[in-house]
This record gives sequence, structure tokens and C-alpha cells, in this order.
Amino acid sequence: MLNLIIMSTLTVSLYILLERIFAGSNSHMKKDYAAKDEEYNKICADNAKLKNDNNGLKVTLEHTVALYNITKQICKHLDVTKVFGTFEHEIAKYIRVQECKLIDSHINEAEYKDYTVMPLKIDTEYLGYLVAKGVAEEDKEKFSILANQFLLGVKRSLLYQKVQELAIIDGLTGILSRRYFLERLGEELKRSKQFRYSFAFLMVDIDHFKEYNDRYGHLVGDVILKETAKIIKDSLRQIDLVSRYGGEEFSIILTETDRTGAMLAAERIRHSLESRHIRAYDEDLKVTISVGVSVFPSHGRDIHELIDKADQALYWAKQAGRNRVCVYESEK
Ligand code: GH3
Ligand code: MG
Ligand code: MG
Repeated sequence: MLNLIIMSTLTVSLYILLERIFAGSNSHMKKDYAAKDEEYNKICADNAKLKNDNNGLKVTLEHTVALYNITKQICKHLDVTKVFGTFEHEIAKYIRVQECKLIDSHINEAEYKDYTVMPLKIDTEYLGYLVAKGVAEEDKEKFSILANQFLLGVKRSLLYQKVQELAIIDGLTGILSRRYFLERLGEELKRSKQFRYSFAFLMVDIDHFKEYNDRYGHLVGDVILKETAKIIKDSLRQIDLVSRYGGEEFSIILTETDRTGAMLAAERIRHSLESRHIRAYDEDLKVTISVGVSVFPSHGRDIHELIDKADQALYWAKQAGRNRVCVYESEK
């Protein structure tokens, strides 16, 4: 009986001991598992972040490529219509747009409430709007970046046009600048030589202009210059070229015109001015001009000769008393 009791006690003690041993190792294992879990979760999180970064990079790369391609294509043009055509063509490669329009006037906002609207502005001046319909929500950011690039292209074209106009047009009178006129004179000379046409070159000078300036001031003088340019232009055909040659001097090309035609046109201009009153501020003024005429090919076969001869004829017109037309004559 005692043996049995001892045996039972030993068995229970062994069981308790074993249980303790196992419990100890189990808690170690639990700890290990928790650490592994943590590590695994961290790897998953890192992986998700990498995936996300990767997607971000992909989108950025797509944006950059799209931006680069659109900019490259747009930069080939300096004409707004062509810039828009290129933008429309290029943007279709990257995003879906149902309709895209360039509007060069003010828009009614209600009419375009379903559109993405981008204003086209230079400094504070509104020049129009780029409107697009059906741009998906996820493409809106891309559209806005690409549209901004397009607007830069439009601004570039408009500024280019302005610079061209400034080089071509005289700022005060709105007629051709001397530089551009001389280029055109060279072209006219070539064309007339090729097709054996004659043409006339006129040098016009306002009579006693300095006196108007001295008496009424330069602002009045400026109005006289503007009005004289307008009257000269209105007295001629559209194909004739009128430029401001210098201060109060104007030069004219009468295309396909001989001596008789040139004389008639020059007289018409002179008479238009003589018969008109020019209103400048509160002044009501009478202005006259003198005109010197040379004709291609009889008076010269190059630009310098034609200008010299017209200048000579103008000098004679002034000498003869002003308000008159003189055609160059070799015998004089
Ligand atoms: P003429 O009959 O001999 O041609 O006499 P004129 O007084 O017209 O000739 P002159 O060459 O002595 O004077 C030209 C004047 O034109 C002198 C200059 O101050 C003036 N002028 C030149 N450019 C401008 C301009 O842009 N605005 C104004 N208001 N005056 C100008
Ligand atoms: Mg002069
Ligand atoms: Mg003068």
C-alpha cells in the first residue's frame, strides 16, 4: 500500500515537472511566433510601400514622357491653330477626352458646366479658353498638366506674332516699318525683273512739318503723322505698299505701274491731303505733301538707284514750291 502511495506521488510529481518543462518551452515558442509574425507583417508593409512607390514612379514617368512628347511636338509650331491641332492629337495618346475645343472669346460658364475649363491668360488679359468634355476623374490631373503645357505653347505663338508685327508695323502710324518695306522692295524688284513689269517708287514728305510741331506741339505732330498715313493708304490700292520711311517721310511701292499710272496715283494722294482737314485735339489743320517719283526699270535697276532718283525728284518738288509731285527726269 505504501509502495502504491509512493508510486502515485512520484507519478504526479513527474507529471507536474513535465508539465512545467513543456509550459516553459511553449511560452518560448509563442514568443518566437509573435516575432516572426511581426517580421512578416513588416515585410508585407514594406512590399506594399514599394509597390505603391513603384506605381507612383510609373505615373510620374508616364506624365514626364507625355509632357516631353507634347512639348516637343507643340514647339514645332508658331501658329495657334497648329499648336492646338498638335495638342489634340497628342493628348489622345495619353488620356480619353470626348471633346476638346479652343475658344478665342469669352465663354458662357453655364454652357460649359460639364467641361473642364482652362483659361488662356497672358498677364491679366484673357485670350480664350481651352475646354474639354469627358475627362475621367483619374485623368484630370494629367489633363491639367498637359493643358498647361499647351497654353505655354499658345503664349509662345502669340508673343512670336506680336514680335513679328512689331518688326513689320510702325508703332505710331500702323503702316509698314522701313525695315520690312525695304525687304519687300527687294522682292518686288526681283519679281518685276522676272516678269518684266514696271513699278513705281514714291518718296513722300510732309511740307513744313517742323512748323506744326513747333507751333502745336509734338502730340499734334503725331496725330498729323497718323492721319497722313491713313489718307495715303486710303488713296491707294490694297496691293500697293506704304511705309513710314523716317520721321515725316513715307515711301510707297505701286506695283505693276508705269510712269503715267504713278503720276496719277501720286497726284491723287497729294490732292487727298490738300483737300482734307486734319483734326488733332482742338486743332483743325491743313497739311500738304511733296512727292518724288522714280520708275523701274527706266530710272534704276536696283533699290539704291530707285531711292536716290525718288529723293532727287522730291528735292525738285520742294524746290519748286512744295505741295507738288515730281517724276525723276534724267535731263534735269
Ligand atoms: P520741308 O517742307 O522742307 O520738308 O520742311 P519740314 O519742316 O517738314 O522738314 P524738317 O526735316 O526740317 O522737319 C521734320 C520734322 O519732323 C523734324 C522732327 O522733329 C519731326 N519729327 C520726326 N519724327 C517725328 C515724330 O515721330 N513725331 C513728331 N511729332 N515729329 C517728328
Ligand atoms: Mg523730311
Ligand atoms: Mg518735311
